[in-house]
Amino acid sequence: MMNQGRIFAVGIGPGGLDLLAPQARKILQRADVVVGYRPYLDLLGDLIIDKEVVSTGMRGEVARCQSAIAKARHGLVVAVVSSGDAGIYGMAGLLLELEENEEKPLTIEVVPGITAANAAAAALGAPLMNDFAVLSLSDWLTPLEEVKRRVKAVAKADLVCVLYNPQSRSRRDLLPEVINEFVSARGKSTVVGTVRNAGRKGEKCWLGTLAELPVEDVDMVTVVLIGNSRTAIINNRMVTRRGYRVTERKK
Ligand code: SAH
Repeated sequence: MMNQGRIFAVGIGPGGLDLLAPQARKILQRADVVVGYRPYLDLLGDLIIDKEVVSTGMRGEVARCQSAIAKARHGLVVAVVSSGDAGIYGMAGLLLELEENEEKPLTIEVVPGITAANAAAAALGAPLMNDFAVLSLSDWLTPLEEVKRRVKAVAKADLVCVLYNPQSRSRRDLLPEVINEFVSARGKSTVVGTVRNAGRKGEKCWLGTLAELPVEDVDMVTVVLIGNSRTAIINNRMVTRRGYRVTERKK
């Protein structure tokens, strides 16, 4: 009889191996096959050196996941790798959707990871101390109008906002428009931070106000964290005040 295959959607964290969760590490070690986008697999280095590896380009997600499912059905232990968390703009949902109309769907086991927002927030200080929203500015799978509608709603709601996929080489108009939207809703002195390569080699932070933000420099390995009306810069760190009465106490 054929072995029972298993399939895992594994979030590997932001890239540094010290931020790879122990559970994810265990599953990667156990896997027969590791499937993912090449640069993410490269981040795993020696950990997957003796494994069968399936990698395709950035937009080969559907084919990659189909082949992963086929291998699991054939009895292999398969790890489908996403950066950060697999359920946040990652492969977990796609794998679940692909099994939707199967008579005997495989159980997709989802292993959580540290998402870019967590790693970037830690690098900047504590900007996510109160309610926040995560938005992707990519219009690849979401129509542009929908992206803009959500930006408006979040800007108005005074939620701290984390922007994923903020600006690509070809998509240059949207981010300046989004920043303007936040300036209109919250004012140009609103605190904003960016982190490039959060939680991995080459991490670089910038902190300032919306008026000062170097929009041109923002790229696809960066997240932008826009503060709310209570976000401050304290000792050069980004902090969203939650409401503790700290200054009164000091008196
Ligand atoms: N599943 C991933 C997100 C994938 S979307 C996660 O949970 O983190 C891809 C976007 O995430 C990138 O364009 C970038 O905006 C952001 N991102 C992912 N890893 C990052 C990192 N280490 N540093 C900064 N931004 C990152």
